[in-house]
Amino acid sequence: MTFTTRFAPSPTGPLHLGHAYSALLAADMAARHGGQFLLRIEDIDQSRARPAWEAQIYNDLHWLGLSWPEPVMRQSDRLPRYSAALAQLSAMGLTYPCSCNRADIEAAAGAPQEGVPQFGPDGRIYPGTCRDLDKTKATAQDVIRLNMAAALDRLPRLSFIETSEELGGEISLDPEALLTGVGDIILVRRNMGSSYHLSVVVDDADQGITHVVRGADLFSSTQIHVVLQALLQLPTPQYHHHPLIRDEVGKRLAKRDDARAIAKYREDGASPSDIRRKVGLG
Ligand code: GLU
Repeated sequence: MTFTTRFAPSPTGPLHLGHAYSALLAADMAARHGGQFLLRIEDIDQSRARPAWEAQIYNDLHWLGLSWPEPVMRQSDRLPRYSAALAQLSAMGLTYPCSCNRADIEAAAGAPQEGVPQFGPDGRIYPGTCRDLDKTKATAQDVIRLNMAAALDRLPRLSFIETSEELGGEISLDPEALLTGVGDIILVRRNMGSSYHLSVVVDDADQGITHVVRGADLFSSTQIHVVLQALLQLPTPQYHHHPLIRDEVGKRLAKRDDARAIAKYREDGASPSDIRRKVGLG
């Protein structure tokens, strides 16, 4: 199997040094393995995606010396594919509509209990309010959730291979941690036709990704992806979650952190090799 990896930015702001690190590391790993580096534009959140940011992604990455096969996969072109994957999960009886807003979830969550996690990879863990309601009463405004307990009942023990030095090894998924620390994640967000988790799993499979290279901030989402891959009978790639690039005071870089934008360094006269050096790939 040819080593195939990808860089999958969302066009919701300028790429910063952290993105440069992720993209360069993925491309370097592909080159080392005689493999392929693909680009994917993660623009399912059309309320935040902007064509100008997408254009700048291409610009910045080309300037860094990266190239990739065209045409680029764009999530906004693939809604029917995500609907088909959702239909598969729904046909298995594993999904339900949910009308709770943030305030409903906070109210239903109640007081924190000793030893019970309140937050998971997607924020506050859903207390399950809508899980057993009458599905025929669903409206177009509802989100669609995965019934994690029902999903795990159908699956054997799952694991994945992590290749980073820091987290590396065979990582076994803990069903108890998935139930209490992750819960009924959202498969389709309001007005989006999909969610990050559903799209990324379907896209990685359809692009033939064998190695996912991404930031350690997504490590806790990987268990969700492995569950979805198993349910949808898609292959599980290997994962490499790299450490995050931080600023001088140790804070993680964010999109709004314009000072670290690749475009800003470029404007100030930095070269692509300067950027490589800055992220430790020089
Ligand atoms: N689109 C995600 C981001 O910009 C990356 C998703 C991934 O690599 O799985 O953070």
